[in-house]
Amino acid sequence: ESTLSAVDPEVAQAVSAELHRQQSTLEMIASENFAPVSVLEAQGSVLTNKYAEGYPGRRYYGGCEHVDVIEQLAIDRAKALFGAEHANVQPHSGAQANAAAMVAVLKPGDTILGLDLAHGGHLTHGMKINFSGKLYNVVAYHVDKETGIVDLAEIERLATEHKPKLIIAGWSAYPRQLDFAEFRRIADSVDAKLMVDMAHFAGLVAAGLHPSPVPHADIVTTTTHKTLGGPRGGIILSRAELAKKINSAVFPGQQGGPLEHVIAAKAVALKVAASEEFRERQQRVLAGSKILAERLSKQDCADAGVRVLTGGTDVHLVLVDLVNSTLDGQQAEDRLHSVGITVNRNAVPFDPRPPMVTSGLRIGTPALATRGFGEEDFTEVADIIAKALCPDSSDFSDAAKVALAARVELLAKKHPLYPGLQR
Ligand code: PLP
Repeated sequence: ESTLSAVDPEVAQAVSAELHRQQSTLEMIASENFAPVSVLEAQGSVLTNKYAEGYPGRRYYGGCEHVDVIEQLAIDRAKALFGAEHANVQPHSGAQANAAAMVAVLKPGDTILGLDLAHGGHLTHGMKINFSGKLYNVVAYHVDKETGIVDLAEIERLATEHKPKLIIAGWSAYPRQLDFAEFRRIADSVDAKLMVDMAHFAGLVAAGLHPSPVPHADIVTTTTHKTLGGPRGGIILSRAELAKKINSAVFPGQQGGPLEHVIAAKAVALKVAASEEFRERQQRVLAGSKILAERLSKQDCADAGVRVLTGGTDVHLVLVDLVNSTLDGQQAEDRLHSVGITVNRNAVPFDPRPPMVTSGLRIGTPALATRGFGEEDFTEVADIIAKALCPDSSDFSDAAKVALAARVELLAKKHPLYPGLQR
């Protein structure tokens, strides 16, 4: 059998270059992680060849006896890990999980209440040109301008006024925990369903280091590739009474054949997520983000107009507010990139700069924790980031850049990534 490099050297070369990029830079995009080799192996397997429309034991294709075993393992592990009554492991992505979850409990034109994209919500929580904004009547809630905290009083007011059928709690860029019990109370007061999208913090929930939304929500959706550290994909958890509706909303409602190779990789990731090693890793994720928030709150950063939104973090990411900095989000992202640290610029609530530029950065610690970073390493990373961001635009010399890049290289060498994988 011919290898990738023999059949398609162009693709092989780009894959190899990407492996090198991941190994030699510090990945701090909050939604990214490094899947273990076991996950890569499951995903890169012959399961990719198999059609399996339907669910374990009830398929529309023959030859599903082995993928049934795999999908049932993934379902059972998801239910056990999160204490859920029902799990659907077929959504191809987080966005598809959310689309199916909404189809299960809504009709087109129904009202949904979700966090504004500009305040940290996700596209699928009601953005205008996303399916959620086109199919449903969207009302958005916000964070408080002073504190940066989700404004529960506003949510209650909007819920009472607009009577949504569904309230969505969850975020893509928010550094604090949500009060799920309070969301539940508000949802009950207007007879709405509550969906929690825990895509970002699912790994913390799995490790018992973040309150679980499962006891409070009718439906919980997640991705499997962020803090959870698995393959790219989605999962829907729900109460037993919604199981049938959820399953038929995924297939045949939204999707055709499930990606059984990805489902196998999800099963592996869910097994890993139940381990003590995973819990210890999530503890380092949280320790790292706290160290970063503290370092970026010091005087040199305050003097440069750099602030940490909400004054800190309870999760795996820090939101850096550059509204008062001479650097905008794009320049800050580029500056970190130039020393070997990958982050993404991100609008801050009430951002005065345009969405392609922004006044913020979202910086996360999951990928580095997976690489083995501990508190000492995160302290060094935090200092490198502060030294890059906190002088103003004119003050960042080429010599400073070279020195910081060398410190990044040392950290990358100290924690080799995928040492067994060939370039
Ligand atoms: N939900 C939240 C909260 C997210 O942050 C994201 C992705 O960033 C998604 C859903 C969508 O996941 P995917 O990119 O797999 O469609």
